Amino acid sequence: MQKTLSIIKPDGVAKKLIGEVVSVFESTGFRVAAMKMKWLSKSEAEGFYYVHRERPFFQELIEFMTSGPLILMVLEGEDVIKRNRELMGATDPAEAAAGTIRARWAHSKQNNIVHGSDSEESAKFEIGHFFSGIEIF
Ligand code: UDP
Ligand code: MG
Repeated sequence: MQKTLSIIKPDGVAKKLIGEVVSVFESTGFRVAAMKMKWLSKSEAEGFYYVHRERPFFQELIEFMTSGPLILMVLEGEDVIKRNRELMGATDPAEAAAGTIRARWAHSKQNNIVHGSDSEESAKFEIGHFFSGIEIF
């Protein structure tokens, strides 16, 4: 069984979409192995998005990710990294396939409701950034 880090970003929480998004994951068959609500500090958000530190959108992205509380989850399932990315849809909701989370609810390329790890390596780093072993069931 594979694990991935999923985030319902501050826009998803503000829009009261926690239940909808978790329902998409659970009805797909993913198991929620860990979950918490957290308001990230600047350094927690910067560390999480370290790979994007040179990108032009980085500062705005950090402001967005620290603008309110978010939901952190570890999802478990077969091939969950790739399947979660498929459920999320493309980064830009204008390009996201119909029926995906971002096509249904995202407002913009930045405010796009969810995050999902994109590889086994990033899943390992991202889960470890937010969860200790005893918080994952
Ligand atoms: N992002 C942005 N502008 C861009 C590209 C990305 O604001 O041009 C934000 C967006 O919130 C995205 C996050 O930065 O989800 C991380 O970007 P990435 O390319 O990793 O997209 P993702 O993996 O989330 O689809
Ligand atoms: Mg990414």
